[in-house]
Amino acid sequence: MYDYIVVGLGVAGWSFLQQLDENRQNYIVFDNCSQQSTRIAGGMFNPVILKRFTPAWKAHEMLQYALLQFQKAELQYGKKYIHYINIYRKLTGIAEQNNWITASDKPVLSVYMKDIVFEKIDGIEAPYGFGVLHGTGIVNVNQLLDDIAIDLKKHGKLIQADFDYDQLEIHPEYVSYRNIKARKIVFAEGYGLKQNPFFKDLPLTGTKGEMLMIETQANIPYIVKSNVFIAPNVAQKGQYYIGATYNWEDKTNTPTNTAREHLESKLQQLFDKPYKIVLQKAGIRPTVIDRRPLAGKHTEYHNLAVLNGMGTRGVILAPTIAKQLFQYLEFDIPMMKETDIRRFETINF
Ligand SMILES: Cc1cc2nc3c(=O)[nH]c(=O)nc-3n(C[C@H](O)[C@H](O)[C@H](O)COP(=O)(O)OP(=O)(O)OC[C@H]3O[C@@H](n4cnc5c(N)ncnc54)[C@H](O)[C@@H]3O)c2cc1C
Repeated sequence: MYDYIVVGLGVAGWSFLQQLDENRQNYIVFDNCSQQSTRIAGGMFNPVILKRFTPAWKAHEMLQYALLQFQKAELQYGKKYIHYINIYRKLTGIAEQNNWITASDKPVLSVYMKDIVFEKIDGIEAPYGFGVLHGTGIVNVNQLLDDIAIDLKKHGKLIQADFDYDQLEIHPEYVSYRNIKARKIVFAEGYGLKQNPFFKDLPLTGTKGEMLMIETQANIPYIVKSNVFIAPNVAQKGQYYIGATYNWEDKTNTPTNTAREHLESKLQQLFDKPYKIVLQKAGIRPTVIDRRPLAGKHTEYHNLAVLNGMGTRGVILAPTIAKQLFQYLEFDIPMMKETDIRRFETINF
């Protein structure tokens, strides 16, 4: 018998596997590639909300643990996943310069928000300068998931197929799925949760995001943020990630002309050098009505658990929430109220 079945190998599922490895639990993972939020994410880590210059919820507290977990993966696979890259926030006028200076004196924000600079960046005009963030960067989550999948397959721990919920049998002390038995099962399907009969009523709204990858001769060594992000593709020199859009209606992973035109028009307002689009992709961010993760046990079946709702900041949040979920499932240590699904108790799930 396994300790755990884990459904979903995005950043949430991977974060839970880290806990299982650290606690010597044995497990089997299912993934069907139906969702690709982690796969297409920019992988950026930045604890500051760049629209309002405020700290993102718990991001400062959770970032160090997240980086530690990604470092462990670096040691395990002998690859570099974490790339520290400063973010250059283009400032729009004197008022924003003042707001930047005020915010950068505040606790937490002062760790990241540094000087205003007037550096020349290829193809980008910034008459009011850039506010520079330190301690930020990109995790190459796509490469990390590739490496994990290879490793799991080698050890017979990954089944690349649909998890068929109708085949799950629930017993008081274990679950069984076809010929597999496990003490517990954790669902980490991202927006795929909507198909899960046990947790589908949780208020996961889902926000579609599209991105472009461009190639250009220009050299942009930082992550530049204006109306869009331009971020170096850490896997391919000369390529840059442009993103992203937010769409609350369309729940497909299909790239659209509307999103491409939108991103291109924003890009052209920021960047005036020639470029070529080499890729466009779409995914659904697992966003929640109150913008907090979803973690916890099923109210009736205590060996069924969920790990979801990482929203727009999966890289920073997932490792800590996975740890808290594991400690709750194994040692009954309560999770943070804000992330526990019991906050939606009135919903029948
Ligand atoms: C355009 C875009 C840009 C983003 N940029 C950033 C960023 O820069 N930084 C950041 O921190 N976050 C970013 N995000 C958000 C981040 O991607 C998410 O918070 C995170 O990836 C969610 O991870 P997850 O593991 O919950 O879901 P997913 O990555 O969607 O993984 C779920 C997995 O479960 C599998 N699955 C689902 N149902 C089943 C089933 N029935 N059987 C088997 N397998 C199943 C899916 O195939 C998938 O592999 C971005 C998102 C988008 C869309």
